[in-house]
Amino acid sequence: MSIKENLLNIKKSLPSQVKLIAVSKTYPASAVEEAYKAGHRIFGENKVQEMSEKHEQLPKDIEWHLIGHLQSNKVKYIAPFVAMIHSVDSLKLLQEINKQAQKNNRVIKCLLQIYIASEETKFGLDKEECKALLSSAEFNAMRNIEIVGLMGMATNTDNALQIKTEFASLRSLFNEIRTNYIHKNIQQSELSMGMSSDYKIAIEEGSTMIRVGSSIFGARRYN
Ligand SMILES: *Cc1c(COP(=O)(O)O)cnc(C)c1O
Repeated sequence: MSIKENLLNIKKSLPSQVKLIAVSKTYPASAVEEAYKAGHRIFGENKVQEMSEKHEQLPKDIEWHLIGHLQSNKVKYIAPFVAMIHSVDSLKLLQEINKQAQKNNRVIKCLLQIYIASEETKFGLDKEECKALLSSAEFNAMRNIEIVGLMGMATNTDNALQIKTEFASLRSLFNEIRTNYIHKNIQQSELSMGMSSDYKIAIEEGSTMIRVGSSIFGARRYN
C-alpha cells in the first residue's frame, strides 16, 4: 500500500482524542511530502540534524516533534521551530530548552520521558526523578517551557500483557501528576505512547499521541 493509504487507514481507525505523529526518521523528504499531500501535518524525528534539514526543505506549516534523545548542546538548532519535544529526560536539558526558547521569544511544549521498559537501553526519568523535577525550585522558575504530558516506550517484546502493564504504569503516573501537581508550567493533557507494533495497546491504556513510522512509510533501512 502507498504512504497515503497507510496513513488514511490508520487515521480512520483512531479515536478522536488520539493524535498521530508520523515518524519520518530515516525516510527521505519526498516521503514526508507524500504524507503532507495526503493532508498530514504532524511529523516526528529522532535526530536534530535530520529534523532541521527536513524543516528547511519542506512546507513551513508542518509541526515537527522531536522524539529521540536530545543533547543539551543541540537544543539551539531546533528551538526556533520545534513544535514539541517528547524526550526531556533531565532538569539540565529542560533548563537549556527554557533558555533557548527565551532567546527565541517563545514557549516550547515538552513531555517528560519516563522509563517504563525492562530494557537497559531506553532513556528516561524514573517516577521519583520525574516528581523531584516537577517539585524543584529550578523548574518552578522557568518561564519558557510548558510540560504538557509524559512520554514512554514499552519493552520491545511480543508479550502483550507486559506492554499493557508498562503503559498502564505510565498512565497512572500521568493521572497522579495531573491531580497533585498544579502549576502554570504543567498542563498534563498528552500521553505519548505507542509505536507501530504496540499503538493499539497504548490507545487502550489511554494514549493521546501515537508515534508511528514503519506502518506508514514501510520498513526502515538503517545505514
Ligand atoms: C522510531 C521511533 C518510533 C516509531 O517506530 P515505528 O516502529 O517505526 O513505528 C516511535 N517512537 C520513537 C521514540 C522512535 O524512535
